[in-house]
Amino acid sequence: MKAVVVKKPGGPEQLQFQDFSKPKVENGEILIKVKASAINRTDIVSREGKSGYMANPILGIEVSGEVVEKGAGANIELGTRVMGLVNGGGYAEYAVMPADRAMKIPDNLSFEEAAAIPEVFLTAYQTLFWLGGLTDADTVLIHAGGSGVGTAAIQLAKKLTKATIITTAGSKEKLDFCRSLGADICINYKEQAFDEEVLRATNNLGADVILDFIGASYWEKNLKGINTDGRWVLIGILGGTVVEKVNLMELLLKRVQIKGTLLTPRSDAYKKELTEEFVSSVMPLFLENEIRPIVDRVFPFADIQRAHEHMEANKNVGKIMLKINE
Ligand code: NAP
Repeated sequence: MKAVVVKKPGGPEQLQFQDFSKPKVENGEILIKVKASAINRTDIVSREGKSGYMANPILGIEVSGEVVEKGAGANIELGTRVMGLVNGGGYAEYAVMPADRAMKIPDNLSFEEAAAIPEVFLTAYQTLFWLGGLTDADTVLIHAGGSGVGTAAIQLAKKLTKATIITTAGSKEKLDFCRSLGADICINYKEQAFDEEVLRATNNLGADVILDFIGASYWEKNLKGINTDGRWVLIGILGGTVVEKVNLMELLLKRVQIKGTLLTPRSDAYKKELTEEFVSSVMPLFLENEIRPIVDRVFPFADIQRAHEHMEANKNVGKIMLKINE
């Protein structure tokens, strides 16, 4: 089978196709003929040789496709249309996955739409509810509202709670789209100081939950814009990793809880539990078209380098997909 590996750590030009044997299924696993995969920021970090947690030489952490083989104990029919997280190996014509975290694809979704769901919706669900403890009474600040995770988080917060949703993004086009998904207050971080806007919108209280994809460059404004007892979930470092000046007094006074998380290196048991809860509480909403995967663009598999460049140019609204087998 054809799969994508990294020649040496660096830019998109380092991505290359290589021939591999099909992966072997172990007990409890399924082999999937991959129809679609998606680009994620973690793939870029791995491509640059900075992740340190990816053992699989083949990039890609999520797929959709058809089950073509199963190991002993895998409780799923051959031919089932599935989607889900893989432990690397997603940019390939075949991939293996523990059967207990394969999600059946709702009939109303194509393979390209389905592969746009696992990573960003599971991340948004986990960070909003398991880590952020979002409730109806809260105000949530979702940064990078036009991102894959941002567009998922806005929809989940809207459909599963009555929380007020504030989002930030870098263009009017992205913010208009966020509003159409359910965001109540939309802030262009390139033109407005988002902390001031958040305080204005919350009677000077601040946001109760922050989904922070940005890290260092937003540190000060996040601290100003978070409410007392706020939950600040750090899930990305697009704005850098090192905060030069930290005033710990402000953290103490506001009793801020900061939680960092990365889904990819979490255990199979954790991913199974998260997937199962997501399937029961969110999947019906996809079938009812209450929530939808947001596909920015579908690239042919051969255009893997262009797909990475597209993400790094920050042009996408929602997910960048790869079409693999017909
Ligand atoms: P994406 O679709 O590529 O979107 C990222 C967007 O963030 C960009 O389009 C850009 O939009 C904005 N951005 C980029 N650099 C920025 C900066 N320095 N300051 C402010 N905004 C910036 O991303 P994604 O795949 O959804 O991932 C979003 C984030 O979640 C990434 O940091 C990713 O690593 C993280 N993530 C974490 C986990 C986890 O488990 N921790 C899981 C999945 C994803 P604008 O036009 O608005 O600037």
